[in-house]
Amino acid sequence: MSDTESYGFDTLQIHAGAAPDPATGARNTPIYQSTAFVFRDAEHAAALFNLQEVGFIYSRLTNPTVAVLQERIATLEGGVGAVCCSSGHAAQIMALFPLMRPGKNVVASTRLYGGTVTQFSQTIKRFGWSAKFVDFDDLDAVKAAIDDDTQAIFGEAIANPGGYIMDVRAVADVADAAGIPLIIDNTSATPYLCRPIEHGATLVVHSTTKYLTGNGTVTGGCVVDSGKFDWGASGKFPSLSEPEPAYHGLKFAETFGPLAFTFHGIAIGLRDLGMTMNPQAAHYTLMGVETLSLRMDRHVENAEKIANWLEKDARVDFVTYAGLKSSPYFDRVKTVCPKGAGALFTFAVKGGYEACVKLVDSLEIFSHVANLGDTRSLIIHSASTTHRQLTAEQQEAAGAAPNVVRVSIGIEDADDLIRDLDQALSKAVS
Ligand SMILES: *Cc1c(COP(=O)(O)O)cnc(C)c1O
Repeated sequence: MSDTESYGFDTLQIHAGAAPDPATGARNTPIYQSTAFVFRDAEHAAALFNLQEVGFIYSRLTNPTVAVLQERIATLEGGVGAVCCSSGHAAQIMALFPLMRPGKNVVASTRLYGGTVTQFSQTIKRFGWSAKFVDFDDLDAVKAAIDDDTQAIFGEAIANPGGYIMDVRAVADVADAAGIPLIIDNTSATPYLCRPIEHGATLVVHSTTKYLTGNGTVTGGCVVDSGKFDWGASGKFPSLSEPEPAYHGLKFAETFGPLAFTFHGIAIGLRDLGMTMNPQAAHYTLMGVETLSLRMDRHVENAEKIANWLEKDARVDFVTYAGLKSSPYFDRVKTVCPKGAGALFTFAVKGGYEACVKLVDSLEIFSHVANLGDTRSLIIHSASTTHRQLTAEQQEAAGAAPNVVRVSIGIEDADDLIRDLDQALSKAVS
């Protein structure tokens, strides 16, 4: 599709990156279920391997179905390129990998998906990387945490589990001043509600497992590059600016300019780490993305109704939804995610841990699962599940204290969801 700038979001979510199949005329993007692709001749093969020509070699690196999804998501986010991978957590490693080396650190928000807190506080240490967690509402603390070894700042636009809204622009300004990239996990917001690149983010990561696919069928991830960071200028990122031995001394920043990060992600990241998205998963996610805006509008409408109802209920102590006037983040919604504050929030149940467990067990429409961003309404008691590995202080800081449950509001009838919550709260709180 040409001139993607002039089309609206609803058009792009269906068409960007796709064209009728040149071989068969198939209107939907076929699932190219093939490991390898035939070279035209030896010269073509050599050009592909030298990164002088873009094309398909082997599906660990590139696949035509996955390529359509990459272009679709890059377009919706306003980036220059994207690399899809096997999960959201894979996308996070793929985003950090070109930036980090042993001894280097990332400054991360305290309010993150529980699995990301574990990945950043435990697992990345095995690579010699580390993370420093700070409250992103305290910009002085963010600045103070940055040292000579800090390579990136990482946060979520609409943050797990409480639905807090990050002031992306303010943190981007801190990153700019320090000469380091800002990485935004935009999973909970999606590009329909928030476009972090417009607020100064360098890279955007997604768990496509969630709203982008939308119906809880496949896991996947994506790293989108804004193309705006000058990797060559800073000297802090030799993987991108210095000669790459595996490609005869090619320099990614010099050779590929704004596409350096994307090419590095495919030619080094997917080639050597192998966290590849398969074409079946890309197919399901492409189908999901086609209806993203319609679903997100309904997710937000339902979340607003339900959060308002819960806030007035005597059995509930508080509701964290940023779309409520009582939220300290209400004013940020207008600038950061003007189409709504998403559909993810927590609420505190009178009666604490025991009442939360009883509530979760008594619901009939809501499913008790460790997932979010499904058409179905989901609930989880974070303290006993996703945030179980964290210390009490980390749970509190992350908004996952023992007396709160997290909901991901689906697109069912809001009145049915309210009735379900009402009957379950009656059983949980006596
Ligand atoms: C689910 C999720 C992840 C991890 O994604 P997976 O696809 O499960 O690996 C990361 N960040 C956020 C905000 C998520 O919701």
